Amino acid sequence: ITSKLPNVGTTIFTVMSALAAEHKAINLGQGFPDYPMSAELAGLVDKAMRDGFNQYVHMNGYIPLREALAEKVQYLYGTEVHPDTEITITPGGTYALFTAFATILNPGDEVIVFEPAYDCYIPQIELMGAKAVTMNLLFPEYRIDWNTVRAKVTERTRAIVINTPHNPTGAVLSAADIKELESIVEGTRIVLIADEVYEHLIFDGLPHESVLKYPALRARAFACFSFGKVYNCTGWKLGYCIAPAPLMAEFRKIHQFNAFTCDTPKQVALAEFLKDRSQYLELGKQLQGKRDHFQQLMAGTRFTPLPSHGSYFQIYSYKDISDEPEKDFAIRLTKEAGVATIPVSSFYRAPVDNGVLRFCFSKKEETLAAAVERLRDL
Ligand code: PMP
Ligand code: GLN
Repeated sequence: ITSKLPNVGTTIFTVMSALAAEHKAINLGQGFPDYPMSAELAGLVDKAMRDGFNQYVHMNGYIPLREALAEKVQYLYGTEVHPDTEITITPGGTYALFTAFATILNPGDEVIVFEPAYDCYIPQIELMGAKAVTMNLLFPEYRIDWNTVRAKVTERTRAIVINTPHNPTGAVLSAADIKELESIVEGTRIVLIADEVYEHLIFDGLPHESVLKYPALRARAFACFSFGKVYNCTGWKLGYCIAPAPLMAEFRKIHQFNAFTCDTPKQVALAEFLKDRSQYLELGKQLQGKRDHFQQLMAGTRFTPLPSHGSYFQIYSYKDISDEPEKDFAIRLTKEAGVATIPVSSFYRAPVDNGVLRFCFSKKEETLAAAVERLRDL
């Protein structure tokens, strides 16, 4: 067989989680909480199953869930989205991204991707026969250099991928970034693929600059979300996509012959759960507490923090400890110190090695404390 993805191996998340398991390391690599999801939400799933919501639900998603999401978007971003034509529930955020790329990309199209980039974007783009045009975020703040973006836009540019809060860096886009983006896409046929799976996980009172807040961006965007990420149930693999009706109509043509529909009882439960706004307004504060706690603990080590404004993640430099390349150091840290992380170099296609690792802090206090204890003597 001729590989359709000749440059692709196994995702770093699986590699590092397997290594962590093999060496009984504490896993601060792959991004998932090790604490329980909301008992109330779990109870609502149980109730939905007992109430008989166990057969195929509407192919575009359980209607009351789409209505609840439209209300949420109106409340948070002041934007009207039509639940019948502009929201589709998907089996996870990854699937929403994949389907969005499949909807718009043709062979030869170019997509601008900022690196470090979440690892599914480029393989998804290349599967469509399109080309990822990469550019590096400016180290160490991981900001976008908008003049470089302007220089990379060509007639073949079909899309720009933005991700805020950002995985792996925890950087967030500001209103000033959004203005730059608006000026770049104006008058072009560029579509925005907005990965907003960490929408509620933003810290220090910063606003989440969703594309949905900005009419000129919203009119050309697929905004992709994940229930698993924000509600501490990554194993649910349930998410949704919001896009203007003409784009969404095409997205749904693909969705209907791929997943067709997704998990019914969880959608029924989420529709009920979302009625209470405190459920999502509190999420960022809880996680900010974890970030702060982790930072306090890590202050007792020789790792140096880079700022994290959102997501599950914080990047640390290990330059004061070792000169090894990131992958080597991350592997040694897993095997010898018993703490698994993710080398940030694995989020680049270009060989970029700044001596930094990504730590996931969406963990119980005792997990974080036990991990940092193992890093103290390095
Ligand atoms: N985008 C980013 C930036 C992520 O970190 C993740 C992590 N899971 C996803 C998309 C995918 O979300 P899901 O698990 O819902 O597919
Ligand atoms: N998004 C998660 C992370 O960045 C992992 C998801 C996955 O394993 N694909 O760690």
